[in-house]
Amino acid sequence: MFNLILFGPPGSGKGTQSEKIIERFHLVHLSTGDLLRSQIAQQTALGLEAKKLMDKGQLVPDEVVVEMISTALEENPQAKGFLFDGFPRTAAQAQALDILLEIKRTPVKVMLALDVSEEELVKRILKRGQSSGRSDDTDETIIAARVAEYKNKTEAVADYYRKSDKVVMVSGEGSIDEIFARLSAEIEKRM
Ligand code: AMP
Repeated sequence: MFNLILFGPPGSGKGTQSEKIIERFHLVHLSTGDLLRSQIAQQTALGLEAKKLMDKGQLVPDEVVVEMISTALEENPQAKGFLFDGFPRTAAQAQALDILLEIKRTPVKVMLALDVSEEELVKRILKRGQSSGRSDDTDETIIAARVAEYKNKTEAVADYYRKSDKVVMVSGEGSIDEIFARLSAEIEKRM
């Protein structure tokens, strides 16, 4: 199995690149943001609770996303590997993922971390907001809160994987295809 974490701040292109990566490398895409938005669309109790936090740009509780990932891992016993997108976002989530994967005897192979300037991030999120229908992509106050959550809680996740030497920084600037070529080269080296 090949398990990959695509890491980076909001707007760094994780969703766009994930779509391309799963197609080329036949991995199962697990995006906690997408899973949460699907719960919101279905108007489940979990979705309605999560929406309150997402609309403020805050993270939802660790237990909620860890449970969603645990279920998704169980639902895909035939997977050749998983691409984690937007997860883990806290050190506690990273520890929980290690435990879940230990049970499956398949560790995280690499974390590819997209590097994009802050100015470019805000530009990209606002542009995405014009078509994504995501309320958290249109309001600059919410975007600023999401970037703050990333700095305060999520950056530490990279430190967690640095300890086992699994982090590879990749420039997330340039065209979609250029960035995809960089990511693909790193994946091919390790597959
Ligand atoms: P994303 O689509 O990854 O940008 O996520 C959108 C929003 O969903 C985030 O701003 C958080 O409120 C929530 N979310 C997504 N993934 C996680 C996670 N792993 N942990 C906590 N909250 C998350």
